[in-house]
Order: sequence, then C-alpha cells, then structure tokens
Amino acid sequence: MNSILHFDIAAVVILVFFLLLGRTRERFVGRSNKILYVLTILLFLSTVFDLTSGYFENSHTISPKIIQLTYVLNSLFFIPHNMILPTLVLYMYSSTDVWHLFKTKKILKYTWVAGCVIPVLILIGNGWLINVFWQSGNNTYNRGPGVTVFYVLAGLYLLWLGGFAIRYRKIIRPDKVIVLSFSLAVTIIGVIIQAMNPKHLVEMFATTIGLLFFMIVARREDSMLDSVSGAYKRISAIEHFSRNFETKKPVVLTFIKIVNHANIRLYLGQESYSAFLRQFTDMLRGKASASDYKADIFYMDGGLFAFVSEDMNSVRAGDVARSVKAVLANPLIVSDLEVRPDVCMCIVKCPEEIGDFSTLYTLSSTFSQTMPNSRDVAFYADYMNDNQFMIKNELDTIIKRGIENRSFEMHYQPIYSIAKDRFISAEALLRLKDEKYGYIPPALFIPFAEMNGAIHEIGDFVIEAVARFISMADMDMLGLDYVEINLSAAQCIEVDLADKIITLMEDYGVGSDQICFEITETIADLNPEIVDRNVTKLHDYGIRFALDDYGTGYSNIKRVTSLPIDQVKLDKSFVDEINVPHMWDVISDTVEMLKRIGKEVLVEGVETLEVAERFKNMECNLFQGCELIQGFYYCKPLPEEEFKMFLTSHRTK
Ligand code: C2E
Ligand code: MG
Ligand code: MG
Repeated sequence: MNSILHFDIAAVVILVFFLLLGRTRERFVGRSNKILYVLTILLFLSTVFDLTSGYFENSHTISPKIIQLTYVLNSLFFIPHNMILPTLVLYMYSSTDVWHLFKTKKILKYTWVAGCVIPVLILIGNGWLINVFWQSGNNTYNRGPGVTVFYVLAGLYLLWLGGFAIRYRKIIRPDKVIVLSFSLAVTIIGVIIQAMNPKHLVEMFATTIGLLFFMIVARREDSMLDSVSGAYKRISAIEHFSRNFETKKPVVLTFIKIVNHANIRLYLGQESYSAFLRQFTDMLRGKASASDYKADIFYMDGGLFAFVSEDMNSVRAGDVARSVKAVLANPLIVSDLEVRPDVCMCIVKCPEEIGDFSTLYTLSSTFSQTMPNSRDVAFYADYMNDNQFMIKNELDTIIKRGIENRSFEMHYQPIYSIAKDRFISAEALLRLKDEKYGYIPPALFIPFAEMNGAIHEIGDFVIEAVARFISMADMDMLGLDYVEINLSAAQCIEVDLADKIITLMEDYGVGSDQICFEITETIADLNPEIVDRNVTKLHDYGIRFALDDYGTGYSNIKRVTSLPIDQVKLDKSFVDEINVPHMWDVISDTVEMLKRIGKEVLVEGVETLEVAERFKNMECNLFQGCELIQGFYYCKPLPEEEFKMFLTSHRTK
C-alpha cells in the first residue's frame, strides 16, 4: 500500500475514536454538539471514500469493474466532503446561539441549501455536462476544470465563516475564535498541499486535526447544568441573556422567584434544600411540558428561576406560570417535610420590552419587591407606563447616564443652632436630574449606587463639589461654620480615602473645621481596620464626624463610643412618633445619654413650629438639650444659589 494513504488511515482511526466517544460519554447532547457529531460522520465518510478510492487507484489489479467502483467511490467522497464547510457554518450559528437567524432570514436558509445542492447536481452532471474528474485507463484519478466549482464554493463558505466571526465577534467565545482560525488554517494548508500535488492525500488528515480542535472546546451539556437543581447554571444564563441582547433574539422570559428561599434553606438544611430545588425544577419542567411549552429552565441562585422560550406568545407563558402557581397552592413534600415556597412571577419580552442586560438583571433581582402584583403573575408590559416602577428597574442605566451626562448636583439644607438662633451649617444633599425621569430621590439611587459600585465616583463628585462651594462662597458672610457631607459606608473602605480627601481639601484651601462627615452605624459592620484607619486619620486631621440616622439601626451604644463621633443626628423617625405615649421621655433620655458621653445632638426632620419649640425648650437634667435642628420647618434642601440667597436674607433680618 502506498505510504501516502497512511494519513487517511490515521484520520479514520481518530474519527472512529470520536464517534465512539460521542456514544459513550453523551458528549453530543444539545444541538451544537449534535452538529459536531454530524460533522464527524461527514468527515469519517469522506475519509473512508477517499481511502478506499485511493486503495483501488493504487492496486495492481485493474479491470473495468474496479475503475467503475473507484469512480463511484470518488463521487461519493465529494458529497460528504462538500458538506463539511456548510455543516461548520451551522455549528457556528448554533453554538453562538443565533440559530434563530436561520428561521427569520430566509436568504440564509436558501443560500445554505443551494451550497449543499450544487455539488450534488455537479456530480450528477460529471463527464456529461461538466468535467469534475475522471478515471483514466490505468485507473488514475484526473481532475477536470469542473472541480474549480467546489473550490469556489468552499471559498464562499470560508468568507461566510469569516464574515460571521467579524459580525458576532462580541458573542463568540474567544476559545472558539482561536479554534476556528486554527482549524481553518490547518485545513487550508492541507487542501493547498493536496491541490498542488494530488498524490499527497493530507487534506482529510488536516481537516480531522481541525475537528480535533473543535472537540476540545465543545462543551458537554451537563457542564452547563447546575448540579443541585438540574436546571441550567447562573453563568450560562448570563451568557445566554447577553448573547440574546447582542443578536436581538426575541425570547419570552418568565422569572420565578422563591421569596422565602433563605428561610426554606435554613429550616430544611443543605441536603433537603438541594432535594427541594431539584423537585422544584422538575415541577417547572413538568408544568412546561404538560402545556407543550418549549422553554429552557435556568437556575440563577438565590431562589431565582427563569423559563426562557422562543415561543413569543406571552399569554401562553402566563398560562404556564399560573399552572405553576396552582401547584404551589398546596405545600411541596420534600423528604417528609412540608415546604411552602412563596413565589413571585414576572413575564417579560426581550428585546421588545427590555433591550439591555443591566435592566433585565435589575428586574430579576428586584421585581419581587417592586412589582405590586407579582404574587399573582405580573406582566412587565403592564408596568411600562408606571414611572416609579420603571425608575427602580432602570437605576443602573439612570446612574450611568447621570455620571456620563454630569447630571448630579448638590443641594443644601440649612441647620439651625438653638443657642446662636441662626443657621450655622448645612447638610449637602445630592440630587440627580435624569433626562428621562426628572429628579430621582437619593434614597432610591444611593443604595443602588452602593450596590453597583458607582458610589465611589459619585462620592468623589460630592466631596469635590462641596469643597468647591466652600472655597468659592463667603462662608463668614453666609454665617456658615461648616458643611455636613454624607459619606457612604462603601466609601469608608476605600484604601486611599483619607489621603484623597485631605489632598482635595488642601487643593481647594478648605479648612478641616469647615467640613463634617456624616456616617451611619453600618460602617462598623464592614472592614473595621480600614474604616477605623480612614475615619481616625480624617478625625486626627481635624475633620468632625456625625452619626447619621441615629435610632434607625441598632443604635448600639458600643458603636457610638467606638467611632470618633462628635455629633449625633437623631433620625426623623423619633420626631414622627413624638406624640406616641412615652416617646418624649425616650427622646429626652436619649439626648441626655448622648450629652453625658460628650456628643453634640442634632434633630432631623422637624416640620412644624410646635416640634421645633419642644426641642428648643428641652431640658435634660444637668445638660442643655439638643443643640441643632434641621427640617422642612426651617427650610427644604435648596440649590446652591437659592441656598445662598436664603442664608443672606436670614442674616439681614
Ligand atoms: P439623610 O442623610 O438622613 O438626609 C436627610 C434627608 O431627610 C434628606 O432627604 C432631607 O431632604 C430629608 N429631610 C430633611 N428635613 C426633612 C423634613 O423636615 N421632613 C422630611 N420629610 N424630610 C426631611 P434626601 O435629600 O432625599 O436624602 C435622602 C438620603 O439620601 C439621605 O438621608 C442620605 O442618606 C442619602 N444621601 C443624600 N445625599 C447624599 C450624598 O451626597 N451622599 C450619600 N452617601 N448619601 C446621600
Ligand atoms: Mg445625612
Ligand atoms: Mg439622616
């Protein structure tokens, strides 16, 4: 046997191995992996036909029958061989999850089919309408000009693959790009060698090596499944959603959130909780298949599941969701324990109703709190005109837009000193004016900015804006001793916070006594060392600290004494309950206790003359009562210029 056949034999051995691997390890579950299996079969068939035709061409016995058989084998070789690149195109569309384009864009379908049919037609017409190849008298294979059509077709498919890789570069996994380029390069080298010298049958071997690369990156379906719930993993959900948005693939999403999952986990214990999650997934799967609803099920941790379906009829999604709800009207029995999952559901069409990942992500984590009727089955479409809901859901985008468009500004609320009977300071309060929704309350966007990390950039803006205000304003003329700035707990763990603030204050020529930072008790729960280092450093520099919202947290006196706090701000909730029996006693005793440990006391949220008078006349045994008052009774937070006008007019009164 000719030594050049050895390459083909090696290819067959590798391919048989792949085919067996596919059967035994369930590697070929899922559409993409099935296409890869078809690719392996095509390659196997073409290599076998290549090998056998080569064998007869090189055999010493030549008879008309053998020549005929060789001709048939060569024709048979061309069919699977010409199907390899089209199948690779299918593989790329499927593994990149843009398969739906084949459905929506007819031109793709027809082009693809044409590319597969043309070689068959050409082979039928071989030697009659067109000259692709022929076997000469001594059974040698000869190429005719018709074979060029195959090369041209292959070239077009390569262009298709190249164009695809460029168009969808953002969603193709980087390992696939490398594999695609590498395997195509190896295959093309093989083709060129064989085209220049048909005696060297290396093409099939090179293509097999190319396939080997694909096998390496092919994912096993079960590696995408969550081992506990049996649904698709969170990471594959994230990949899936981002990809869908990139390719604008229309899907209907049903979020299913088990609101009390943390409790369930606590009282079931880890083992039974896993059994519960699996049972829950099976129940979802069962309900979907009972309604003949085709959907993938994802489990995104934290008790959140999602159906993702290409069936765009959201009414059907609603029916399935309601049938799930109906099952949950009765408790689930898990390992002889009765479990009652409290479930919220929300149905949304993407990209029609939500077209970006961050909004979808926000919805998935907040809808159970923000959608009033999610206990039934809520349709996102019903809320699209509800501004409050939309703001909550789009906070990520709104904050990013705010940073980009510089739409943050500072307002100032005057703080009244009882002893001096005038305004001696002010609290700087951040405002965000969004181009779409107008003013967004900080109580909404600050906690969100803390969650998405934007608080650091926003916090820097606040400190700089206030430093600029202090440096530009005539503080004496306004009667302002200092300005209070809210410092988020997240800012307190910035490694360089203290140095950054000190440098900034020096740059703007702001005195350390002109600023007071407001912090909340929660900072004590973060990283005590770094918090302590930042706060102590700033305090040692001469900056005062106030404890904000006192009375809303644990009001843990240890925290109050362990942090270098100069001022305590009694939260508005004290004032709101001032007429509740005994509340005034609680307030007076609290103020007295704070005075006893040397803190200055400010009361927030004073809205009426009556309440202001009560605090003004407060007496706490040995100590003078509360010193400072802040509230709408005196003034609401005002934009910079109005605030200055307010103070000026009050100075001259
Ligand atoms: P806070 O620091 O406790 O600020 C006091 C809040 O109470 C302000 O709300 C203020 O407008 C409001 N307020 C003051 N007096 C009265 C009153 O008499 N009645 C009523 N109903 N409300 C009153 P605002 O400006 O909406 O801020 C809410 C929260 O957002 C702040 O609570 C603070 O935690 C946070 N925040 C505001 N600006 C910033 C900032 O620049 N940085 C950080 N980290 N947080 C900020
Ligand atoms: Mg404050
Ligand atoms: Mg407060």
